[in-house]
Amino acid sequence: MTTTVTAYAAPSAKAPLERTTIPRRAVREHDVLIDIKFAGICHSDIHQVRDEWGGAQFPMVPGHEIAGIVTEVGPGVTKYAVGDRVGVGCFVDSCRECENCLAGDEQYCLKGGTGTYNATGRDGEPTYGGYSTHVVVDEHFVLGIPEGLGLDVAAPLLCAGITLYSPLKHWNAGPGKKVAIVGMGGLGHMGVKIAAALGAEVTVLSQSLRKQDDAKRFGADHYYATSDEATFQQLAGHFDLIVNTVSANLDLDSYLSLLRVDGTLVNVGAPEHPVSLNVFSLIGGRRSLAGSMIGGIRETQEMLDFCAEHNLGAEIELISADQINEAYDRVVTSDVRYRFVIDTATI
Ligand code: NAP
Ligand code: ZN
Ligand code: ZN
Repeated sequence: MTTTVTAYAAPSAKAPLERTTIPRRAVREHDVLIDIKFAGICHSDIHQVRDEWGGAQFPMVPGHEIAGIVTEVGPGVTKYAVGDRVGVGCFVDSCRECENCLAGDEQYCLKGGTGTYNATGRDGEPTYGGYSTHVVVDEHFVLGIPEGLGLDVAAPLLCAGITLYSPLKHWNAGPGKKVAIVGMGGLGHMGVKIAAALGAEVTVLSQSLRKQDDAKRFGADHYYATSDEATFQQLAGHFDLIVNTVSANLDLDSYLSLLRVDGTLVNVGAPEHPVSLNVFSLIGGRRSLAGSMIGGIRETQEMLDFCAEHNLGAEIELISADQINEAYDRVVTSDVRYRFVIDTATI
């Protein structure tokens, strides 16, 4: 039998979020019921609530950076027990049999993974995210949060953390590699921390000098303002890897010019509008332009264990549920240090 729980939802595109109730399914054979303690606010929540990517489903309960405690398990559950500290990220199901699912890259499921919210589950029911008191998820898509990481600072790792960890690992960020992180918001600040912990030489490229001291504290070696034209001349041909976390369109040619021969610019920021570039920016240095989306379940667990080992939590501003709409406006104006996290007890 489904239960009714409290949540914050957007009733329609661009409408403010408001308190409401939603159904949660009964715990099935392989499900766990999670008492949500904290939910991070990702810029993707805002893109989707405002229907900037198209195809949004309403009412929408956003939230794919979920941390909480298991309070019930189905009879077939083997990974978790009542009382375990767990997290849920951006997807809650996938086909589990395609090439990508079998390789542990469920985020690239060929039949389409099921988003934690703004999606329709394989049972035909809409999925609702973490701005809520409880969620029911198949154990395969639930992560263990190691002791030593607070649930509040761990929540943002479920999206922001893995979205940076995965490309940094894939493109071998480590000792001897010059890595730039463009945009130091929720994703970017975790990118700085993780790239530094991996041993790379880390540079932040931010719009202004406002966050310079914080960047150094997170482990950055260098920091430049992109509003200063001289930055682009000074750093031409410099980086092995640039990870762009910016939620708006950038002049890609300028950023590609900062790559060494064989360097890669990876886009994880997901702006509303298509981008364009001059192909000479690529062929003039055998450069690559790439994209990357979150990470698979196995890699997300690896990331959580890595962050616990290196004591890398997110820098958060804890808010109550009635501050969500104000927080959205602050994220859009880059006024977040560095992730808003909702205390779900206030929902
Ligand atoms: P965020 O907290 O808003 O951070 C984005 C940062 O980009 C800002 O803090 C700002 O940093 C910079 N920025 C914003 N507007 C800019 C502009 N007009 N020009 C230049 N720089 C600008 O957002 P987030 O939660 O980190 O998410 C970033 C993007 O990644 C969003 O588009 C989101 O949807 C996407 N995303 C993608 C994935 C994936 O799997 N690929 C996963 C999660 C999120 P500075 O002030 O330092 O310049
Ligand atoms: Zn996200
Ligand atoms: Zn699949």
